[in-house]
Amino acid sequence: MSARNPAPVDAPGNARWLWRRLKNRSPVLLDRLGRFVRAESPSTDKDALDRFALLLASEYRRAGARVRLFSQKRAGDHVLACFDAPGRGRPILILGHYDTVYPLGTLSRMPFRMRAGRAWGPGTIDMKSGLVMTFAAIDALRAAHLPLAGPVFCLITSDEEIGSHHSRALIERYARGARAVLVLEPAAGTAGKLKTSRKGTGEIELIVHGKSAHAGLNPEEGVNAIHELALQIERIRAFNRPSAGTTVNVGVAGGGTRSNVIPERARALIDFRVTRRELAAPLERRFRALRPVLPGAKLEIRGGFSRPPMERTPGVARLFAHAQSLGTALGLHIEEAAVGGGSDGNFTAALGIPTLDGLGGVGAGAHSPGEFVFVRSLAERAALLALLLATIPDNLAGA
Ligand SMILES: [Zn+2]
Repeated sequence: MSARNPAPVDAPGNARWLWRRLKNRSPVLLDRLGRFVRAESPSTDKDALDRFALLLASEYRRAGARVRLFSQKRAGDHVLACFDAPGRGRPILILGHYDTVYPLGTLSRMPFRMRAGRAWGPGTIDMKSGLVMTFAAIDALRAAHLPLAGPVFCLITSDEEIGSHHSRALIERYARGARAVLVLEPAAGTAGKLKTSRKGTGEIELIVHGKSAHAGLNPEEGVNAIHELALQIERIRAFNRPSAGTTVNVGVAGGGTRSNVIPERARALIDFRVTRRELAAPLERRFRALRPVLPGAKLEIRGGFSRPPMERTPGVARLFAHAQSLGTALGLHIEEAAVGGGSDGNFTAALGIPTLDGLGGVGAGAHSPGEFVFVRSLAERAALLALLLATIPDNLAGA
């Protein structure tokens, strides 16, 4: 490519050139993916997380970014890498997380390996392949002499897998000033669909306090907390209304100490999800309105709504349509999907910022021993990301 590239960025010639370049660079992408996967980074291990943050920071610096580490007391340090583009308007925010659900040592059981066009290992698809794509996309644009449409900020956080409690404020701060947010979570399904809506999520902890007694000597003096919990679970089951956009799941339940003791305490953890924001508060109220059935039992209800739904706003729809047309320039047919799981994209979409999720790797088995990413998808998705970074207009939200 010449130093000046007069064709429109998304002209098929440019798109094909970028994709070819990225395909040729696949060994570089895979080498970086291997290094990232081998640097284990479980959400709850601050030392391991901080080591990964330093690795990421040094790689971003080498790629020419200004890097800032947000040091955290109780979570891993968050990484912000800025690729500047002075005078080109508001930034595009790339959102990722570098924590994984796998404890240290998982690598010995599921090492990073490649076979039959797939790369396996902890965090390959969720989402170390997504992180690798940011480097590849920026590098390819430089090689093609294609400028960024605006500044590109990569905010890579350390606690997405455990609820983003230590990063939400930072994510919202940087999203507010952005023209669009691109989230590097895995694609939906093996067809590589982008995610344009996600359910909002919450968790309730229900604790039942009863009264212990001897099951043989004085059972009538006890209040069986497990019995009370069972009655409550039956009530909660009625909150589940999938066709109306609400799903409720009692995922954990337990209590008691021994079979010959009337149990004093029982507890359940309940996951709930809603498709629309306005469904959340009434549902929470129904949980808080639960009252004990058995005389003498007491209920304690904790928790609540944590991630608002990512709704398919007009801005989201425009951003998806834009990505779809770039996909066409690459010879890809890209579809969209609504999914039940939440991500940090939920926070940014709820602020009204056009957000597109599922731009990371294509594969399967996230959070399981069979986690893998299709090697082919690395170059393909990096090419799409590169085109997005070079073309997203600054007026999506209000266009
Ligand atoms: Zn993820």
